[in-house]
Amino acid sequence: MHSLTRRTFTKSAVVASASFALNGFSQTGPSQRRVGIAPIGLGSIAEVFMRSVSKSENAKLTGLVTGHPEEKGKRFAAMYGVADSSIYTYETFDSIRNNHDIDAVYVALPNSMHCEYTIRAAEAGKHVFCEKPMAISSNECKRMIDACRHAGVKLMIGYRLHHEPVFLKLHEMVRSGAFGEILQFQAGFYGMKNKQEWRLNRALAGGGSMFDLGVYALNTIRWFTGEEPVDFRTLVATRDKTGKFNSVEETINCLLKFPSGILAECGSSYGQSGTNFFQINGTTGYVRVEPAFTYGDTILKYVGKTESGDVAGSGAVYDPDQFVTEVTHFANCVLQNTEPATPGEEGLKDLLSVEEIYKAAGSSMA
Ligand code: NAD
Repeated sequence: MHSLTRRTFTKSAVVASASFALNGFSQTGPSQRRVGIAPIGLGSIAEVFMRSVSKSENAKLTGLVTGHPEEKGKRFAAMYGVADSSIYTYETFDSIRNNHDIDAVYVALPNSMHCEYTIRAAEAGKHVFCEKPMAISSNECKRMIDACRHAGVKLMIGYRLHHEPVFLKLHEMVRSGAFGEILQFQAGFYGMKNKQEWRLNRALAGGGSMFDLGVYALNTIRWFTGEEPVDFRTLVATRDKTGKFNSVEETINCLLKFPSGILAECGSSYGQSGTNFFQINGTTGYVRVEPAFTYGDTILKYVGKTESGDVAGSGAVYDPDQFVTEVTHFANCVLQNTEPATPGEEGLKDLLSVEEIYKAAGSSMA
């Protein structure tokens, strides 16, 4: 169970930037050290990431890896002050080992490519911040963990909600018993906005809405319970008749049982123009967060009840910016040589559950 709070992250980041003078880290001033990071894959989440790095106090964009070096590469290099000589393609990627301005990479590629690029980055001696889902199988996750351990580099998985103040506050309330003993979790993430083709291709995505959206619900449930599910029931269905979901599932619902007796329902769908939420039902209270998992202009809202009365609150994803806090935490782990709040093992545990969830879908997967 991670006990880091936002205050702890911020405090440690300040300590890191003020007191560490490690060789090889990019410098922005006489006293401030910044971890140099190169995103791999300059798609939609990488754009959010690059903006977040530019707002962080201890990280800096020092390289770019893209299939379009002349177009996207040069455009983002000019925008963020990256040297043209630090723009790499997937073919030239391994030579980042010789670039001492790059301390770490950010893997923002289709899911099936996370494993290969994490291992190649580790072999080049670079720390890795890899997007969720960590990979498309637990076996890949284990290889990524081994490669980073062997190379002595950090591996953090991009579970941004572990850096979100509303989530951290509710996590603390749940763990301190504010809602009594937890009996049930319900969580869902539904939506089909601008899905890129790779997300509908099992070979690239690993699966459908479960890999992309359901993993938020699953990870939140695992994080808040502090337990691993032991029993799985799943149904998968596709209503779409256009053939768009020939390769991956459209909708998936699963029921998980945890060792303490907590039951969790977790659903996701690509077909719905729906909502995203989670609700926790305890013996003396409950709390519901909706919306919970989206970003952009999302304002997270929660309502609930404890023995001492009603609870309610809200928070904008970008105020404070959960992505900036996340990258600051990663850079801080590199600077201070500490373990990320969401290391590779956290991604592996999600994948182990995802595999059980699909297995439990049985004939409904057909
Ligand atoms: P995207 O399609 O916008 O970007 C993917 C990038 O990979 C593009 O730059 C594309 O050119 C490149 N690419 C390289 N080889 C490719 C290939 N064979 N097929 C397709 N693209 C290829 O996707 P995205 O939304 O940025 O997602 C990237 C990763 O980030 C995924 O793993 C996704 O789950 C994760 N993600 C995380 C969050 C979050 O909030 N943490 C949000 C969105 C996406």
